[in-house]
Amino acid sequence: MRRVYLDNNATTPVLPEVFEAMKPFYLEEFGNASSIHHYGQHARAAVEKARAHVAALLNARPAEIVFTSGGTEGDNTALFGLVQRGDHIVTSSIEHHAVLNTCKRLEQMGCEVTVVPVNGRCEVDPGEVRKALRPNTRLISIMMANNETGVIQPVEEIGKIAQEADVFFHTDAVQAAGKIPVDVQKIGCDALSISGHKIHAPQGTGAMYIRKGTLIQPLIYGGSHERQRRAGTENLPGIVGLGKAAEISKQWLESGGPAEMAAMRDRLQDEILARVEAVGVNGQGAPRVPNTTNLWFDFIEGEALVIALDLKGLAVSSGAACSSGAIEPSHVLLAMGVSHERARSSIRVSLGKQTTADDVDFAIQVLPETVGRLREISPLYQKARVG
Ligand code: PLP
Repeated sequence: MRRVYLDNNATTPVLPEVFEAMKPFYLEEFGNASSIHHYGQHARAAVEKARAHVAALLNARPAEIVFTSGGTEGDNTALFGLVQRGDHIVTSSIEHHAVLNTCKRLEQMGCEVTVVPVNGRCEVDPGEVRKALRPNTRLISIMMANNETGVIQPVEEIGKIAQEADVFFHTDAVQAAGKIPVDVQKIGCDALSISGHKIHAPQGTGAMYIRKGTLIQPLIYGGSHERQRRAGTENLPGIVGLGKAAEISKQWLESGGPAEMAAMRDRLQDEILARVEAVGVNGQGAPRVPNTTNLWFDFIEGEALVIALDLKGLAVSSGAACSSGAIEPSHVLLAMGVSHERARSSIRVSLGKQTTADDVDFAIQVLPETVGRLREISPLYQKARVG
């Protein structure tokens, strides 16, 4: 059976070049980067080469890059590391739970949190961020691109607001890195997190940018690895993989990759809009990363559609989360003012660097068929048609 994977915002496959680059570091070149012998020196050189590639992807200095276990750790490190009890944090209603739940914990620990809203296109208004500032505001944490809709946030404007107010600015760039240019100088952020497995490196890898001179408390204590900012023996093969993926991403960004990917995504989206009725795009009209579209199909349960598509060989996702046994619609879509019903009828389709035009054709064929079949058995749809 043919299988097509269009859920790259959940995770991406490790690219063959990335896997090849990692392989020797499991076998012959297995040293501990802190050791002084030959093995250790080779490991250290590989870690530093990877650091330079990640720095180049973000337009940072290598010394400003800290390797982590992924986006969640980067977000936690930025938030726990930059604020103290009594401080105020400004974040947004569409952040990933790695930020939102960390903010909840910080509230329990005596911090104050303001969650700014978004408009119907999933955009944070920088004016709202400015309005939320208080004398005790210490940190603004607003993501660069949303994982569910792909909508790009005005991080450069928010960075300016943070600089003027002299507060820290962290951005979760997990869904932006490798898809659009991410330039820490332009953004003017003090901290930024990325995740390896969203850019074709292995799961459980990631990196943070921490601006030189930023006083940040580590999340993990131990040895003096990563310039005292993140203890623990480096994940050598993972770091090598992340470095390779960063190098590939930079070349891809500079050689027209995003425009090609956006054209494939747009073709997919336009065909679905043309072939299916009672359908629309969440976040339409806003700037988006080139790989993502989030579509609603009235009279259909997103979860049922994901399962039916999977049976046909197409992997996509619904933004819904299972909490205490019930399926909850996506907090992101609800924050945009999308109705519960429509949020529940939404799915996310996300392309990767491995996605081909044939894969898109497959989705264009399978999606309308499956939506049609589910609507045939939907009493609500039948009623609406008769009505
Ligand atoms: N932030 C965003 C926007 C994400 O999409 C994700 C993963 O889905 C994360 C953070 C968490 O990253 P990781 O899975 O590497 O911990």
